[in-house]
Amino acid sequence: MENKRMVIPITTPMVNSYIIRGDKHILVDTGLPGYDIRILQAMEENGIKPGEVSLIVITHCHQDHIGSVAALKQKTGAPVAIHKADAEYLKTGGSPPLHPVGSKGKIMEAVSKMMKKPVVTGLEPDILIEGEMDLARYGVNGKIIMTPGHTPGGISITLESGEILVGDLIFGGLVRPAAPGFPYFAESVEQLLQSIQKVLGLQPSIIYAGHGGPFTAESVRRRFFK
Ligand SMILES: [Zn+2]
Repeated sequence: MENKRMVIPITTPMVNSYIIRGDKHILVDTGLPGYDIRILQAMEENGIKPGEVSLIVITHCHQDHIGSVAALKQKTGAPVAIHKADAEYLKTGGSPPLHPVGSKGKIMEAVSKMMKKPVVTGLEPDILIEGEMDLARYGVNGKIIMTPGHTPGGISITLESGEILVGDLIFGGLVRPAAPGFPYFAESVEQLLQSIQKVLGLQPSIIYAGHGGPFTAESVRRRFFK
């Protein structure tokens, strides 16, 4: 029998956020600035009140994932958790330097240099993730694991249901969102592949990503390791 799904995807332009349902609920990533309205609306549609969010987890400190973190912290009252290695950038609302992967990454780097940078309100994180972190005390049966590669402090969240949320460790294509691929940027491709291997080793029932997805474990294995 398939385990009951715990994850509610919140699709916004460009980037996904997620709610993990539990006794209390965890918000994963916060989109671009101004996305707090849409995220709160999606929570309401699913019967979740802002005060029932026990934790906001940032999968990695890129501006399209932290854009509404200050607004959502204010509206939910929930503490914000991020890995130690990415935390410095959260304070200023910035991102670590981007290292493009392949020709697509170089194009995206050029595009992002041309685009106006979003103005992100940073904040002091409440919880610095250092190793694995159990989420039971936040009402969710699951844990945070380290999956660096896209950024130094990239994390994933693995759940009792078999679902896993990987941030930008794996990217859905712009043309075919359901096809897994390399992210446009990676701190270390070697680390990235090790982290993807680690995710697959957990035999996830489904893999949720920051852009596009979700993916089956099989499609990810085929894309990266065959
Ligand atoms: Zn990213």
